[in-house]
Amino acid sequence: MASQIAWPEAPRALKASQCSCDACSDTVAAQLESRPLCLDHFLSISVQEIETRSTCLKVKPVDTAAAAGLRSFLADCVQQAETLAGAEDLAAGPYRVRLHDILRRSSHLNRSLRRSPRVPASIPVWLRREDQRHTWEEETWTSTASLHGAGFVCRHSVEVNGRVVLCRRDKGRRVEARVVYSRFDSEGRRHIGVEILGRGDFWDTPELAPPSLATRAE
Ligand SMILES: [Zn+2]
Repeated sequence: MASQIAWPEAPRALKASQCSCDACSDTVAAQLESRPLCLDHFLSISVQEIETRSTCLKVKPVDTAAAAGLRSFLADCVQQAETLAGAEDLAAGPYRVRLHDILRRSSHLNRSLRRSPRVPASIPVWLRREDQRHTWEEETWTSTASLHGAGFVCRHSVEVNGRVVLCRRDKGRRVEARVVYSRFDSEGRRHIGVEILGRGDFWDTPELAPPSLATRAE
């Protein structure tokens, strides 16, 4: 039977050094937004978080506060991944590739954050579902718009990855779009975000256009 007289620091140290994921008792290797994680969970969770946030950024405008939060998350990821990549026992082998993948994804998302302006925009549209089993139309306005997406309040139920059609009420143009998120706010309104499929100039809003398009000569 083990002695009850333990090394005084041992129980506390053990608790503090355990991964915060459910059912994982591996040793902490990194902290992501103050969450202690083992190496495997750091690798999988950071990639998953970067992917989720990249998808949201494609369609949902980020305001200054959200952009700052995203930058700080990415800085955290990069710092932890760089520290781990510099550790002697990880500098070679399969972990190195995955750590460099996190650095690459972080820098890509950082670039997208700078490149893709998102503005609050109130553009009148008809939002339509045109498949045979669910056909509906509603009059709405964008709450936010980016070059390749938009956010709306939507009264109809629509699943993620479902197709909708946007028709501009002011200009009569239409375009197909894919739903990338659908969630309710605290007042019970459904918000959906869509990614526009096809033409990139659907909104025709100069502040959304990348600078290269505005200045490109024929
Ligand atoms: Zn873990």
